[in-house]
Amino acid sequence: MEIVHSVSAKALVELQKRDAAIAALKAKISGVPVKLKAINDAFEAKKAAMSAARQALMALQAKKKDAELRIAEAEEGIRKHQRELNMVKDNDAFKALLKEIENDKAAKDGLETGVLELLEEIDKAAVKDKAEQAEVAAVAAQRDREAAALEAEGREAAGTLAEAEAGRAELAAGIEADLLERYDALRASRAGLAVAAVHVDQATGRYSCGGCHMGLTPQKALDVKKPDTFAVCPECRRWLYLETVING
Ligand SMILES: [Zn+2]
Repeated sequence: MEIVHSVSAKALVELQKRDAAIAALKAKISGVPVKLKAINDAFEAKKAAMSAARQALMALQAKKKDAELRIAEAEEGIRKHQRELNMVKDNDAFKALLKEIENDKAAKDGLETGVLELLEEIDKAAVKDKAEQAEVAAVAAQRDREAAALEAEGREAAGTLAEAEAGRAELAAGIEADLLERYDALRASRAGLAVAAVHVDQATGRYSCGGCHMGLTPQKALDVKKPDTFAVCPECRRWLYLETVING
């Protein structure tokens, strides 16, 4: 039978609870910059959407300005050809000028229709631009609130961690050094769980390892009932204890 004797079995169980709390605090602290980055990334993405909406609006406005210039050009063409019309004597040249004027007028009509369509598009784009601006402002305010809360949480956790580590050191000082060393190594290799409470099935009365859930032999079930002793799980090598023995 494999057992680990320790007068500090109860202290070791308590130590593991504190180590778990310390690990959780460390995870919380190291999670702060990660969360801050995610919040900032979301804000930058929103800003990029805002910038795209603004550029779309500006492109439409430029297009409208260009169309207006071309309308002015077409009007100038019409006026020029009308002046020429008064000067030509030749019938064919007269007809050709009339045709030119007709073409200019058709071009102008087409451009004017385009401008009307562009005005509608500009209205929609301006609404979207305004909405994006408002959303960016809202997201920025939310980002600032969340960042401040996260930073406060991080500072609080850092303070709690310092206290927890001091308490852990004090508790560890009362535990046999070689046992502590074995515990630390086991905990590091067993996902933070070196000592495992035995699970007692209420219906069958059977015992199993609280770490790997392997059923315990009758001999192991006897071992875990001894005070100041850990039985070793044959499957996962964790040190097993009964809550009733540790706290009894
Ligand atoms: Zn086990």
